[in-house]
Amino acid sequence: PRLANQIAAGEVVERPANIVKELVENALDAGARHIDIEAEQGGIKLLRIRDDGCGIDKDDLALSLSRHATSKITTLDDLEAVGSLGFRGEALASISSVTRLTLTSHEQSADTAWQVSAEGRDMVANVSPAAHPVGTTVEVRDLFFNTPARRKFLRTEKTEFSHLEEYVKRLALSRYDVAFSLRHNQRTIHSLRPAARPIDREKRVAALLSPQFIDSSVHIDAEAAGLALQGWVGLPTFSRSQGDMQYFFVNGRVVRDKLVVHAIKQAYRDVLYHGRHPAFVLYLSLDPKLVDVNVHPTKHEVRFRDGRLVHDFLFRTLHKALGDVRP
Ligand code: ADP
Ligand code: MG
Repeated sequence: PRLANQIAAGEVVERPANIVKELVENALDAGARHIDIEAEQGGIKLLRIRDDGCGIDKDDLALSLSRHATSKITTLDDLEAVGSLGFRGEALASISSVTRLTLTSHEQSADTAWQVSAEGRDMVANVSPAAHPVGTTVEVRDLFFNTPARRKFLRTEKTEFSHLEEYVKRLALSRYDVAFSLRHNQRTIHSLRPAARPIDREKRVAALLSPQFIDSSVHIDAEAAGLALQGWVGLPTFSRSQGDMQYFFVNGRVVRDKLVVHAIKQAYRDVLYHGRHPAFVLYLSLDPKLVDVNVHPTKHEVRFRDGRLVHDFLFRTLHKALGDVRP
């Protein structure tokens, strides 16, 4: 029962961004190297996510739309280890219950692709042959077509798209080895090639966030006591035109954590006498045993076993880096 409850806790589709997150994570779990995301009308009318991952075989196609059908977890230990991004086995089921969904997939070893559709709770049962290269395309139309009450909570097309784009940014900033493209209403918004070399990574960050951010930031690359920190922190000369630009990744996953933000702001305040809205893209790596990422179903929160150690490391590293460039 505990396993079922923990799994059920994650069932939420509030807006197109949630769908994009789940589908892109599935693509990453499937080992995709290229992920193309297409949206129309903020993702409300259409979302199409195509990947070149391992694909789903014919027999599992319909099954993957049913609740708690996951190929990724079998025990509570697995759930706690959270080895892969997806672990609830219900994303496709939840999404298909509030949309018109078509799943097309070509499994690696199969010689053709297959397709299955669902509308709301009704499965369009027959699995039919289709044309598709190895990999998977999930097409989702008319979000909340069958639940008008929930549709009312959707914001404007523009707002929904910006939420969706935000998720894409986070994912693209966490997987430089994967190519991503994002289109909205037939326009290319991002087109990112895999970025292996440091210079290519900088280019990706510049393309996703702003070229000015890279130009007026300090590069961070530090290691101490089993902790490593890499990335960029913006200097005061970098002024954002909109919103916070704060990205912090722990072992490759984006997190929002009070302790982390506190340490960063304190370093800014100490060195530059202001710490209001620092801009940063930072990657912390540490032994997975020293951090619990499964505190919340959305997995944006973490709990460090030794919060003090992490806080001090972040503060010291940024304090030094900012101090070195202080005019
Ligand atoms: P979970 O990701 O938690 O296992 P989902 O509902 O998101 O649950 O997906 C159900 C199953 O469908 C997955 O476990 C996986 O086997 C399969 N699947 C979904 N999307 C893809 C994809 N893009 N490529 C390959 N397999 C996929
Ligand atoms: Mg999933």
